[in-house]
Amino acid sequence: MKNLILVLNCGSSSVKFSIIDPINEKKFLEGEVSSLNLPISYIKCITKHKNFYEKKNYKMSHKDAINFIIKKILLKYNKKLFSSVIGIGHRVVNGGDKFKKSVIINNSVLKHLEELISLAPIHNPLNLIGIKQILKYFPNLYKKNVAVFDTSFHSSLPKRAYLYAIPNKFFYKHKIRKYGAHGISCTYILKKFSKITKKKLSELNVIICHLGSGSSVSVIKNGFCIDTSMGFTPLEGLVMGTRSGDIDPSIIFYMNEELKLEIKQIKEILNNKSGIIGLNEKSSDFRYSEKKYFISKRSKISIDIFCYRLVKYISSYFFLINKNIDALIFTGGIGENSKLMREITISKLNSLNFFVDKNKNDIYCKDFSFINKENSIPILVIKTNEEIIIAKDTFDLI
Ligand code: ADP
Repeated sequence: MKNLILVLNCGSSSVKFSIIDPINEKKFLEGEVSSLNLPISYIKCITKHKNFYEKKNYKMSHKDAINFIIKKILLKYNKKLFSSVIGIGHRVVNGGDKFKKSVIINNSVLKHLEELISLAPIHNPLNLIGIKQILKYFPNLYKKNVAVFDTSFHSSLPKRAYLYAIPNKFFYKHKIRKYGAHGISCTYILKKFSKITKKKLSELNVIICHLGSGSSVSVIKNGFCIDTSMGFTPLEGLVMGTRSGDIDPSIIFYMNEELKLEIKQIKEILNNKSGIIGLNEKSSDFRYSEKKYFISKRSKISIDIFCYRLVKYISSYFFLINKNIDALIFTGGIGENSKLMREITISKLNSLNFFVDKNKNDIYCKDFSFINKENSIPILVIKTNEEIIIAKDTFDLI
């Protein structure tokens, strides 16, 4: 074994890691430290030879999680495998307008990443913790660490799509614009669709719905993203697990001025207490609302609003590529698994010639599946694989 890549993904409540051969896409190790900063954390690591599960009855921070991954999982239990790692790929949520492509991390890149924290205050600092800990333990791997950005895919957006209609200085001076997210997933999906259809990337016109705890829709014309539903931050757009998505900004003024809520509280409400959990009042897990769809009014309306918003985005994006559309694609935890969501959403798109085949929709997606009726525009479910893109970009750059 040689030339393997370690992929590190520091998310808001978990650190995911894997060791991948970037050429044949084989995964040798895969794991996650989850429920970070909660009273109990969970550690899971799966390899060909051994599965490892551990529960920690104390609060683990992101730094604790990375230290555990390095000291125990990589250097103790998988030392031989780790000795074949030649580079490390880090997922970074926001590359701002500075990073339009993946980049080898050096001191100057690190400085720019620090400067970008204000654009993604929740995610970028966590991504930076991962990078810094790795560099601390493995100084010999300096310049073998690569940052892969969720925003790069959307750097092709035309100005009319990324600029907000607010005074120009907020863009030119303060860099307030649409950045989007889920770009690494979209890159994988586009490449996979190109393989499936044997069409060149530059010929592809598709709408990709990445629906997970965070959700977004992106529209791709001739292989380039021309619009996406997430905005300056991941708060804009679709209804999500805990995020509101689009709202009238005046609600914020009203909450502040009339309801006397502080900006910090409103931020918490819109980011962590809204969306599916705000509507069903029980759980941000889509499976909860799905299970109760026919018995709980609140669960029903949470899914109905989710699908209604999704339909609005898909139909408006449809007209940006119109008759050239090759496919509508669903991916992400909800996109890949929720038959109910797909059925409700697609049934509202019949007038645009999208028709779901109920039997084909009733699948467990391991790789990809077509779920449309014969005369419909193609509709696919594709299992996303962001780690592969991070591993390949890392390998190519180093
Ligand atoms: P993340 O954005 O954290 O990567 P995922 O893409 O893993 O999120 O998606 C998480 C979401 O997928 C959760 O809301 C979860 O409820 C939903 N999900 C996972 N499995 C299913 C399923 N079988 N049916 C419906 N929803 C599911």
